[in-house]
Amino acid sequence: MREIPLSDLKQTLKQMIAKACTRVRPDALCALQNAKQSETSESAAFAMQVLLDNASLCEQKALPVCQDTGMAVFFFEIGQEVHFTGGDFEKTVNEAVAESYAENALRMSVLDPFTRINTKNNTPAVLHVRLVAGDRVKITFMPKGFGSENMTRLFMLMPADGIEGVKKAVITAIRDAGSKPCPPVFVGVGVGGTSELCLSLAKEALLRPIGTRNEREELNALEAELLQEINALPIGAQGFGGNTTALAVHIKAHPTHITALPVGVNIQCNCVRSSEEVL
Ligand code: SF4
Repeated sequence: MREIPLSDLKQTLKQMIAKACTRVRPDALCALQNAKQSETSESAAFAMQVLLDNASLCEQKALPVCQDTGMAVFFFEIGQEVHFTGGDFEKTVNEAVAESYAENALRMSVLDPFTRINTKNNTPAVLHVRLVAGDRVKITFMPKGFGSENMTRLFMLMPADGIEGVKKAVITAIRDAGSKPCPPVFVGVGVGGTSELCLSLAKEALLRPIGTRNEREELNALEAELLQEINALPIGAQGFGGNTTALAVHIKAHPTHITALPVGVNIQCNCVRSSEEVL
């Protein structure tokens, strides 16, 4: 059994939060730069240059890349040979969020949904925890802004809807979202599982670096086809039209029930933020 003090975990989480909130992921920046080169609309290309300049300045000055520093979402893969010592796991994660958001002047955006009273420390965080083989802990942190999170969709399709139904669902979600999720967006699609797993898959699909291939060959073609269809929509960067509504579409699939075809769409705005560490 490998012992990991929770004080070590807390320090790691605090650094991951500060890093993710002040840096657009390099894969997304690269995709944005490439998209700008081939943009046909002058206004959209200008908007993309502003986003690139903002990202560069924020990284240099360690400033938040957007005023919405999101709700703190964590994905933990915890080796079953790991024993956390010195406290309570979930409490430690929330302490790291509270301290890092305060110390880095990140906006506190979390409140009670009924009273609308702010918790004033951006907690509680959202935790996805999986127990895996081994003695390592893989942590992924994603500060999720809600301009894009509010555009999340779940479609409980019938099996007969097939791949055409999946495509229609994704295009409907992006068309309905319009410019609200601050495009160019990055589209995560979950297909299969149960309703809640399907939406979780859609969010996890956003963690795969842009430019990497889907491990399922047939889904690479579907991702490319969806990207082409989305970029034919008259939305464009920041709603200025042109040919760059989305930078990428990633799909994550999971077996589902014989009577179902769930499709979840989780949209990530241009401000693609996440950080990863292994303890
Ligand atoms: S959707 Fe993204 S870019 Fe737009 S306000 Fe929210 S975090 Fe910022």
